Amino acid sequence: MSQDLTRLTAAEMASQLAAKQISAVELTQAHLQRIDHVDDAVHAFLQVGADSALAQARQVDEARARGEALGRLAGVPIAVKDLLATRGVATTCGSRILENWVPVYDATAVRRVREAGMPILGKTNMDEFAMGSSTEHSAFGPTHNPWDLDRIPGGSGGGSAAAVAAFEAPLALGSDTGGSIRQPAAVTGTVGVKPTYGAVSRYGLVAMASSLDQIGPCSRTVLDAALLHEVIGGHDPFDSTSLDEPVAHAVDQARQGMAGDLHGVRIGIIGELRGDGFDRGVLDRYAEALGVLEDLGAEVQTVSCPSFGFTLAAYYLIMPSEASSNLARFDAMRYGLRQAPEGGPVTVETVMAATREAGFGPEVKRRVILGTYALSAGYYDAYYGSAQKVRTLVQEDLAAAWEKVDVLVSPTCPTTAFRLGERVDDPLAMYLSDTATIPANLAGIPGISVPIGLAGDGLPVGLQVLAPARADGWVYRVAGAVEAVLTDRWGGALLEQAPDLGKQQGGER
Ligand code: GLN
Repeated sequence: MSQDLTRLTAAEMASQLAAKQISAVELTQAHLQRIDHVDDAVHAFLQVGADSALAQARQVDEARARGEALGRLAGVPIAVKDLLATRGVATTCGSRILENWVPVYDATAVRRVREAGMPILGKTNMDEFAMGSSTEHSAFGPTHNPWDLDRIPGGSGGGSAAAVAAFEAPLALGSDTGGSIRQPAAVTGTVGVKPTYGAVSRYGLVAMASSLDQIGPCSRTVLDAALLHEVIGGHDPFDSTSLDEPVAHAVDQARQGMAGDLHGVRIGIIGELRGDGFDRGVLDRYAEALGVLEDLGAEVQTVSCPSFGFTLAAYYLIMPSEASSNLARFDAMRYGLRQAPEGGPVTVETVMAATREAGFGPEVKRRVILGTYALSAGYYDAYYGSAQKVRTLVQEDLAAAWEKVDVLVSPTCPTTAFRLGERVDDPLAMYLSDTATIPANLAGIPGISVPIGLAGDGLPVGLQVLAPARADGWVYRVAGAVEAVLTDRWGGALLEQAPDLGKQQGGER
């Protein structure tokens, strides 16, 4: 009987590859077929690179046949969010303005994945310039949640999360500025990790808000995320904010957690992130997960972080401010689109204005205007300056919390996946999806989202675990422990029962 290779975890794929029970070419082909079968319905990918993926797979198989030493994930395929530079392959950021931009270099995370022998299946869909929580702001049409095609897969990295949830890829790379790895993970029933700021090089990541952006793993299990973390993490001289210290022991910590012992681990429930605005179905699963932590021997207490009431407002000043200046480089001269003005003189200014008008979507324009305003003379102190003060308060609240606990927990997202179209014209409602994820970015700390079951509506819920900066291992350990118990309790429903997405179901998009 042939097994369905796409249903294995990345760790299982790696061990079958190492034992030469399967080949990288077979494994890559199985995923390309799955993409062919379901991606008309899901639209996780903006581009699929079948030939290059198979060529990479062949090289790994040949190297293995020659007996060369290979990395742990050699031959395991991966998908890459379309804001990471890939040499020779268009990198659009979900935007018309970069539609035809083909980078001449690889992002460091991409280069490390290639060097580890991981075939790259393609580039995944995202909200334009990573601004959004639903992928509906992609210029190339939304991604659909594999659990219910009428619902959003989260954002901005909905493509990477949906690809993993729909078994189109076992692993993917994402980026998280305010929650874009963790929130999509929560609403698609997958695992997503935002590492400590600086733990993974940002070189080659198209910048949105440089002080908040972080690249990280998307996967179906905690161990798989840890394996990928160890491939992409570590110091990089090309990123001046890269931490110069060894990669976190993510794999060891995940395994320790999976063994099920949390005795002596001190866990803080974030008091501010569980009441108003959180759905009943989410809170029920959350309560159950807290029970699991206690059963495993953890000491659980409630911790207050009063500044968290201001983080959404602070984020939506800091992020647009940094984005407005980062996006100034799209000036029609250096990258991508160049649009002539309709009528009137053709000058540098009019070409730039016409190009930005045609190339940016409404959410990007909204944030560029907001950020430019917040940074303008006379308003700088009142808006940007105040937001930065909130950032300091967050750090102080967290420093006080770490005196008492090792990790903090909350639901990852206040609701399950909402319907496509439901919030796209209501930016404030959309922004609320990130209430629980934003504090980690403001403070630079690591965070994970791990599936903890289905709400009454049959849709997945995620638990967020946060740890102090540089203590990424903790999030893997605690999430691994919760996962081991709850995956078992749900009888595999968390991993196996995403609806079958045949081509026949490929509705409109
Ligand atoms: N959804 C958030 C936003 O719209 C976070 C985005 C992200 O993490 N890239 O800004």
